[in-house]
Parts: sequence; C-alpha cells; structure tokens
Amino acid sequence: MIQIPFLRPNLVKHEALIPYLKEIEDSRLYSNFGPLNTRFEKQVMNQYFDNDGAVITVNNATIGLILALSQIRKSKGKYVLMPSFTFAATPLAAIWSGLEPYFVDINSDNWSMNESLLKDCLEKLGDDVAAVLPYATFGTNMDLKFYKKIHESGVPVVVDAAASFGAIKDQIHFGKGFPGFVVFSFHATKSFGVGEGGLIYSGNKDLISKIRQAENFGFSSNRETNLLGLNGKISEYTAAIALATLDVYEQKMNVRQQIYHWYLNELEQKGLFDKGWQVQKTEGGIPHQFMPICCPEGKNNSDIIQSLANLNIEARTYFSPTCHQQPLFKSYQHATLQVTENLSKRILSLPLWEEMTIQDVKRIVEGMGLS
Ligand SMILES: *Cc1c(COP(=O)(O)O)cnc(C)c1O
Repeated sequence: MIQIPFLRPNLVKHEALIPYLKEIEDSRLYSNFGPLNTRFEKQVMNQYFDNDGAVITVNNATIGLILALSQIRKSKGKYVLMPSFTFAATPLAAIWSGLEPYFVDINSDNWSMNESLLKDCLEKLGDDVAAVLPYATFGTNMDLKFYKKIHESGVPVVVDAAASFGAIKDQIHFGKGFPGFVVFSFHATKSFGVGEGGLIYSGNKDLISKIRQAENFGFSSNRETNLLGLNGKISEYTAAIALATLDVYEQKMNVRQQIYHWYLNELEQKGLFDKGWQVQKTEGGIPHQFMPICCPEGKNNSDIIQSLANLNIEARTYFSPTCHQQPLFKSYQHATLQVTENLSKRILSLPLWEEMTIQDVKRIVEGMGLS
C-alpha cells in the first residue's frame, strides 16, 4: 500500500463554491465568457499583473499553446524550437499547429533551454523557424530578457509556463510585460488546480483579443468566422472554482514553499548534496508543483524509484523519457541533447502536496539516502 503518494490534489472545497454557484443559477449564464469568467480575468490582471497587458482563460494549457502558436507563428516557417525536457503537450501543440518540433538542449543548472545553443539553431535554420517555445521548467521564474529580444526581432515566442502561475520574482509576476504569449495550466495536478483549465497572458492586449476570437470559433463581431478557430472556452463552473481558488492561493503557495524548504534542509542535513544530489537552480518564489531532484552521476533514477516504492513512497520521473525519446517525437529533428539525455537518467520527481508533514519529508529523504 502506498503511504506517501506522489501527488494529492487539494482543490477548493464545495462550501467555498456555493456563493459562486448561486450566482450562476441567478444569471443563467453558463459559458461564453460569462460574468464569473470576466471577474476572474479582471482579478488576475489586478492581483498578479498590475493591469499591464491582458489575459484570457482557456479550457486547458495544451489548447492554449495551440491557439497561441497558431496566432503568432511566422506563416512561412516550419519549425518550433523547444526543449525536449518538457511535457508531451509542448511538442504536441506544435504538431497540431501544423508545425514541427525541433529540440534544443538545456542548461545543467536551471534545466531550461540553453540560449546560446538556441541562438546557433536560429542562425542555422533562419526563415524556417516559425516560433520559439521555451518552457519555464517546473514553474521557475526563468529570465525572459533574451526571449523578449528575439520576439521583438521578429521570431515569435510562446512561453510554456504551465506550472508557473503565482511565480514571483522581485515582486513581479512571471511573464508580466512579455510581448509574446505566456501560457499557464490550471490542471488539477498543478498548484493552481481547478480540474481542467488554463490562462494565456500577453503584455500585448491585441494578441489576447485575437485569442478571444480564435477560441470562440473564430467569430468576428458579427458572428462570422474569419479565422481558424475552435472552442477553447471554460464554463462558468470552472470560473467559479478559479475565483474560489484565487481567494486562497497565496496560502496554498506558502504551504508549498514551506515543504520545499523542509526538503532543502533535510537534503543538506543528511549530506545528500555532498554525495552528488542536485536540485534545480531556481529564481524567486515558485508555486512548487512537486519536488524535482537529480540523483548523483552514475546512479539510475529507476533504481531509486524502486527503493522508495519498497518504503511505500511513490515518486515519478518528470521528464523521463524526455520528448525526443518518445515514439511520436523520435523522428523530429534536434540539435545535440547531451545535458537532456544525462538528466533524463537521473531526474526524479518527489512527492509534494499541501498536507505533507515534515515527518513525511524526513522519511522520503532518508529513503533516498539508503539507496
Ligand atoms: C501540465 C503541462 C502542460 C499541459 O497542461 P494542460 O492544462 O493539462 O493541457 C503543458 N506543458 C507542461 C510543461 C505541463 O507541465
């Protein structure tokens, strides 16, 4: 029997939803950017983006990435440059947008795309590049300066920020002011979990207006379709959960950050860093969806998963296999992926969920020390 599961999603309880559900019954508006959805978008802009730019909700981040890519890709380009060390949704979004993923290696410290290798690819591929799609790995506040520059130089950038909602550095929310698209996920397993949902931000309001049209069947103001749209809207019920989640999100993030610090302390005290264990180099405050950690060179993550399982502790290996190692993505092109391939043998995802205790963390770290 599993005693410490990998994740234990903890969405807002039904009591918190009741006032919002009553509003839905009264308004008789159930979708189509209804009043709760509008209120949620306004509150997010107020509380997290200082009303700089615009946001729109979307029914999941995968659809969000597809919509974003489709709207800003260079029409003659063919490749979307992205890391292989990401979730399958990232390359899938490129393929659904009629493009090809092209995988670029990551840095060995922050596990985000290597900018100098990316630059080489941009030079080599030139006009064949349709867009660049970096991933803010595990919710980190990656520096977007370089990506802002390439976006403004004419290579469109969409950031996969699936796990980053609530990530803050120097009191600025991740992505604020970014002129391309930034796509967040609200899946139940993400820290801001509503079930299924997501959010697209841009510092450029016109880009968000385009998404608003695209995710409502491409309808223009006179309800004629004039662009390749789809249905990407959330219902008012999802908006209700999102509003109730906003009310408690700071608290949720604090709890997650506390657990993360327990991990760091235990790892330090048990001397695991001296033995070659490595955590991601992160920046700012992040919402910590789970606890990624890299085991020492020469060890295999699968062995450690097994020894933790023997102690009834469930761990995973995001992202191993990496994208380019999976059947659907194998045939797509890539540059050298040395760091990605090394990390894929060593990466582990440890449990992190809101009701975890310091004793749980101690047991997990002890278990790793034994392996
Ligand atoms: C969760 C995740 C997604 C997909 O989000 P959905 O809302 O489930 O579609 C995309 N990219 C990354 C990196 C993710 O972790």
